[in-house]
Amino acid sequence: MSKVYFASAGTKKWKYDDSMPGKLERLLKEIGMMNYFSPEEWVAVKTHFGSEGAHRVVRPVFLRKVVDALVRIGAKPFVTDTVRIAGLDYLEVANQNGINHLSVNAPVVLADGLYGNDSIMIKAGEILDEIAVASVIHDVPAMVVCSHVKGHINSGYAGAIKNLAMGGVSGYHRACGWKCGRGSMHLIGRGELVWDKEKCELCYQCRDVCPLDAIDFSREELVWNDDACWRCGRCERACETASLTLPADNERFMRSLAESAGTVMSTFEPKKIVFINFMTEIQPECDCMPAADVPVIQDMGILMSEDIVSIEQASMDMLLEASPLPGSLAEHRKIKDGEDILMKIHDKPYMLQVEEAERLGLGSRKYEIIEI
Ligand code: SF4
Ligand code: SF4
Repeated sequence: MSKVYFASAGTKKWKYDDSMPGKLERLLKEIGMMNYFSPEEWVAVKTHFGSEGAHRVVRPVFLRKVVDALVRIGAKPFVTDTVRIAGLDYLEVANQNGINHLSVNAPVVLADGLYGNDSIMIKAGEILDEIAVASVIHDVPAMVVCSHVKGHINSGYAGAIKNLAMGGVSGYHRACGWKCGRGSMHLIGRGELVWDKEKCELCYQCRDVCPLDAIDFSREELVWNDDACWRCGRCERACETASLTLPADNERFMRSLAESAGTVMSTFEPKKIVFINFMTEIQPECDCMPAADVPVIQDMGILMSEDIVSIEQASMDMLLEASPLPGSLAEHRKIKDGEDILMKIHDKPYMLQVEEAERLGLGSRKYEIIEI
């Protein structure tokens, strides 16, 4: 059984100690940075920079508290993420979302280089075989994983496992391209795109939402570039007439996420990673989408643990107890109290992520909550 430290989002007293940044400071003291990190040690603070329209990322004030706690013990932190778009543009996205050297008090660097192809192939497991771990994350000796808990188009739930599985590996590898990187998980989890011409209203939303220009139209016929398509599923989701189908193997996809997260973790010595899950602004989609919808669940708080499986299980269990927020997608979908909100929205068996992570020996689903 692992310890999961928790601070609720609610504030009862009007003083700093009871604010969320104040509570995060207290959590960081409680877990003890010295138990994991050493003076002079480089420590990656892994987060997700978001996208130009998806602003609901882990807020810079929280990253700053993590950085300051590491600086206090003499460690040398930097804030990092892997590239989703051209590297310089991605740094500008981080900047627009408030994450820069000034705000977080540490360098903000790209984990897989300006071109998103600086990675090292690491033996994974029975599903992925090998995967391209971002070189900075591969080489750094220690890491704090700051994850924004939310929904996700493919994984249903996205937290620490997803943050490492997709965000700890690069999009491309110099030798074997995108099929060795994070796209490999999408590829094994999805089949071929099917277009129903009869239903199509030629709105072109699918073409416009595709991040890889894998869809075009020629004489009112959809042209799909199979080789370029990462199977991210955005086109299927954006289509309002259900004209597109991208068959999913959800179980294989969830298990590949756990496998990839475990592969990234295998590049660290034991007890060199601390996980922090931010259950705030819990929106239905990933922070890499072009927009962030309103939250479907009220802010719940911050969790911290050295065990990725425990923190994910605890986060999922809390979400199961949550009520759907009025005015959100949860209300539009008529989701009721007591129902699994993320399951109802995405229809993905997301709990498989933690089941597989435990099976792979990454941690325990049994946990003890220590609330501060
Ligand atoms: S699945 Fe993603 S990459 Fe493939 S065509 Fe659709 S939007 Fe483009
Ligand atoms: S989004 Fe759907 S309806 Fe619109 S063009 Fe694409 S397939 Fe057709």
